[in-house]
Amino acid sequence: MHINDPKLVAAIGALGVEYKQNISLAEKTSLGIGGTSDLLIIRKHESLPELVRLLKDSQVPYRFLGGGSNVLLPDGELPWTILQLARQDPDVRFEGNSAWVDCAADLGRTVTRCAKQNLGGMEGLIGVPGTVGGALRMNAGAYGTQIGSYVREVLVFRAATGKIETLRGAEINFEYRHTSFAPGDIMLSVRLELPSKPYSEILQGIRICNEKRRASQPLNQKSAGCIFKNPPGGSAGRMIDELGLKGHSVGDARVSDRHANFFVNAGHATAADMLALIADVRNRVHERYGIELEEEVIVWKES
Ligand SMILES: Cc1cc2nc3c(=O)[nH]c(=O)nc-3n(C[C@H](O)[C@H](O)[C@H](O)COP(=O)(O)OP(=O)(O)OC[C@H]3O[C@@H](n4cnc5c(N)ncnc54)[C@H](O)[C@@H]3O)c2cc1C
Repeated sequence: MHINDPKLVAAIGALGVEYKQNISLAEKTSLGIGGTSDLLIIRKHESLPELVRLLKDSQVPYRFLGGGSNVLLPDGELPWTILQLARQDPDVRFEGNSAWVDCAADLGRTVTRCAKQNLGGMEGLIGVPGTVGGALRMNAGAYGTQIGSYVREVLVFRAATGKIETLRGAEINFEYRHTSFAPGDIMLSVRLELPSKPYSEILQGIRICNEKRRASQPLNQKSAGCIFKNPPGGSAGRMIDELGLKGHSVGDARVSDRHANFFVNAGHATAADMLALIADVRNRVHERYGIELEEEVIVWKES
């Protein structure tokens, strides 16, 4: 959505928020799909409550984007203005076994920076693209690790109160690719508590996870990781594979030949292509197995 009111643009600028007009969001997502919108980049966390108040008063709908590696955005002009956090420098600081990490920080880089401090536990998350904030929202996990296990405190802008508050880890539910944060909450920074481990041991764990990923995932193609969550006790990828759907496509949206739960943009796929492929695969799985697959990728729709 475009902000057309010059007074609002000036007020946003006065908060130190960067205003970028008419940005192609396909370039900001790992799927390479998405239309255009204005983008507001938040440099200082303290400006967020006032920014949200201004947008609400001007009836400008907004959505928050992290690293764009788990979202499917619509085509055309988006009905929201997009908010993003600017990277901070430094974006992580250490205190004993605690790492205070800014939510705009890259997750993989955070894992390696913690490793260099002999802080381990998160080796499994090494190849998960995106930001620490996105990982918190999704409770990102892989190879038996999930970020929620290490969360002790989160600084969060709460949509309900319009204020920045600190939540204790124990107040947050972290489940399989789901958390109890409210939909409008924006996570700003987090304290992770990590077990001490020698760097060399962590590095070995990281290498093993990287190799497993390279062997099984289409890492040189545009995707959002797994499209569907695994149903309890089952594997979405295995069911899709058993149906012979690897390579199945709608337009340029295609089920990966390498991993059946990864749907890739093989060229110029649109959101409509990807949604049609998701619906088709879901129907086929339901017909054969009687299981309704739930999306893991966050599909941005008008609510
Ligand atoms: C090749 C590949 C491999 C992947 N492998 C894995 C894997 O092994 N395990 C796994 O769990 N995921 C995996 N993913 C998915 C994805 O990387 C994770 O879900 C990641 O944590 C998303 O982070 P992001 O910053 O890109 O979030 P985005 O895609 O930008 O956003 C996802 C959702 O989180 C919200 N959000 C983002 N940041 C914040 C914030 N600071 N505050 C509030 N809400 C926020 C957004 O509004 C959106 O609804 C993979 C993706 C790819 C492309």
